[in-house]
Amino acid sequence: MMTGQKTNSKTAANSRVSIVRCGDYGREAVDAAVLQSLESTGGIGGVVRPGDSVLLKVNLLSPTGPEAAVTTHPAVVRAVAGAVLEAGGQPIIADAPGYLYAGGKSKALRKSGILEAAEQLGIRAVQFENMERPFIRTEVPGAEWMHEVMAARLALESDVIISLPKLKTHSGTWYTGAIKNMFGCVATRSRKQAHNLGVHEKFAGAVVDIFSAVKPALAVMDAVVGMEGEGPQHGRPRHTGLIMASRDCVALDSVASTLIGFNPLEILTVRNAAARGLGEGELDAIDIAGERLDDVSVDYEKPSGRQIDIHPWLMRVGSRFVKVEPSLVREECTRCEICMKSCPADAITMEPYPVIDRKACIECYCCSEMCPEGAMVVRKSRLARRLIR
Ligand code: SF4
Ligand code: SF4
Repeated sequence: MMTGQKTNSKTAANSRVSIVRCGDYGREAVDAAVLQSLESTGGIGGVVRPGDSVLLKVNLLSPTGPEAAVTTHPAVVRAVAGAVLEAGGQPIIADAPGYLYAGGKSKALRKSGILEAAEQLGIRAVQFENMERPFIRTEVPGAEWMHEVMAARLALESDVIISLPKLKTHSGTWYTGAIKNMFGCVATRSRKQAHNLGVHEKFAGAVVDIFSAVKPALAVMDAVVGMEGEGPQHGRPRHTGLIMASRDCVALDSVASTLIGFNPLEILTVRNAAARGLGEGELDAIDIAGERLDDVSVDYEKPSGRQIDIHPWLMRVGSRFVKVEPSLVREECTRCEICMKSCPADAITMEPYPVIDRKACIECYCCSEMCPEGAMVVRKSRLARRLIR
């Protein structure tokens, strides 16, 4: 049963977040949960008008099947696309998989099941990079770091963008959701540029710059089975049993990150986007419709790259010993070179196995994220294991 939670007088109607139970990926269950979550946030008709072109930005990180919980589940994509069609919109599904870093032709759309879902509905599913004139140089007003990006033409030309993230942890940013999902809307060059700014605050600022350039009008999160631990690629699937939606991606990420055991304002993308007025980050100011957060929270295992709870001066002294670094498991490595090609800092050489130049490494963990074999793991030093929460 739906249980209204809190309504704060400060709450903007657009910062409402709906939480709806959805036990599995059966079509009826997902369709009903998506419909209910959309109705709780004002209905699809509030964002899609008849004739609108609508980009459904899925998370298509790598060529993996839906059971791996890496990509947005096709049942959720199909349900949202169906709602858009009902509203008279013209949906198109798209992303640029992370494996594009490695320059390969990805089979991600088919393996994820999303292509089949699109075919069933008679709509298109594409990878941005395979389209004609795929990326356009675009200024980002109010940017902190990325004053200009190569943004997907499809995103820029769509009347409406809907973000369809998967609920997952992330080795580098701890959590990935509706805001970070939009990082896939820019070309490899812009992604590398963002990574090369460094980790933590600067990278988060760059992600938010990109989010602001292609800001979705709505987000629907696949939290039926999420990913915990070493997300977004090598973590474990975790049943969470929810569909969540909001017209405010910042509010959605604030609620979703809380749900899995983070303090939302320690998620740097949430903190940065909220500070810039791009949405509501304060949990107390968000109207949660549907299930009570406390009733559905699932404490996810946290990724290795989590925050180190240590005084800054001690960190300066001890940084040599508090390491969270990528490390090769040679027996698992197929020497495919994807890590080398993925590295934004050019810190990896093949000799013939990957060797990391520790001085050049910016600890972004892209190599670990992109390795298809799980052979590049993120390891903590003994002191880091003691200090990382
Ligand atoms: S570590 Fe992974 S990505 Fe790098 S060469 Fe080996 S298998 Fe490929
Ligand atoms: S070696 Fe890995 S963690 Fe280091 S900069 Fe390159 S991709 Fe990032």
